[in-house]
Amino acid sequence: MIHNFNAGPSILPKEVFEKASQAVLNFNDTGLSILEIGHRTTLFQPVLDEARALVKELMQLDNDHEVLFLHGGATTQFMQVPMNLLSENELASYTETGTWAAKAIKEAKLFGHVEIAGSTKENNYTSIPEELSVSPTSAYLHITTNETIAGTQWHAIPYDCGVPLVADMSSDILSRQLDFNRFDLIYAGAQKNMGAAGVNLVVVNKNILGKVNRAIPTILDYRNHIAEGSMLNTPPVFAIYVVLLTLRWLKAQGGVPAIELRNNAKASLFYETLDTLPLFKGPIAKEDRSKMNAVFIMDNAELEKEFLELCKKEGMIGVKGHRSVGGFRISMYNALTIDSVKALTDLMKHFAQQHG
Ligand SMILES: *Cc1c(COP(=O)(O)O)cnc(C)c1O
Repeated sequence: MIHNFNAGPSILPKEVFEKASQAVLNFNDTGLSILEIGHRTTLFQPVLDEARALVKELMQLDNDHEVLFLHGGATTQFMQVPMNLLSENELASYTETGTWAAKAIKEAKLFGHVEIAGSTKENNYTSIPEELSVSPTSAYLHITTNETIAGTQWHAIPYDCGVPLVADMSSDILSRQLDFNRFDLIYAGAQKNMGAAGVNLVVVNKNILGKVNRAIPTILDYRNHIAEGSMLNTPPVFAIYVVLLTLRWLKAQGGVPAIELRNNAKASLFYETLDTLPLFKGPIAKEDRSKMNAVFIMDNAELEKEFLELCKKEGMIGVKGHRSVGGFRISMYNALTIDSVKALTDLMKHFAQQHG
């Protein structure tokens, strides 16, 4: 039995893997592989249409919000967002909450002025800023709703910041109910919680586009992708198909409200166990702990190594902390079952008993 706690690419439902592999051999009984059909055919177009419709349905999006499937991962969005939304003489506000936010800030500075609206760099990104200071003239506020490496998550979204709200939701997209229409732009690499690597979900309020004073290369202008329905060039066909299968699965589970309940149960089980075992420590401020990526440590490097070896022996994958942080990190994305969390917490208790 393997328990997959990988941070990304990461666990997906088994039925998604089964159906995706089937489609590689024989897509919808056509005798063709999904890898050898044209993207503008009547075979593929319904895949894209259904994926788009499911995103709209699961996120309850209004008609101002367009759904795009783009290449380049979330990292491309770090520059595509300011290129489309921030003029050279303008200001954009960014929250600085960890590795991913810092990368977004670095790219935005190439296009205009950046104001740090709130930062937790001083405490090593172990919390989310308590207060924000956003200039009313700011083109937008950017937040990273879940910091995959630091292990923090915004539980109160600053909807009322007074300027358009932009979010990197790569590692908690579709994991919890949010008022998605109150975001003006959401982006997420698919490989954490909604599919395979190679495609990026972008949800954008079309009313915020077309206001910058620069020429935007064709492929990087959101308006062109909207006009062409994510078919400006060859879309990542297979990755979009895997997203579709994952969205179908999510809907069958009861959608976002149902998955949120399960994610809450998993996170509670994990953190309650963590807090009862003095051997393990959680460095993140309790109210800002991520329900997707939990980081924890021990004071003893030897014991950390021993615990990691035990995890490996028990089939627990991806428990080692990010190379920049150390310790441990487990990711509890939508497809991870509570049984896997139970197996890990049982192992932690057992280990603590032996070494406590
Ligand atoms: C993984 C991740 C990224 C980077 O995604 P790529 O698809 O590899 O570019 C950006 N932001 C967050 C929050 C992430 O977790």
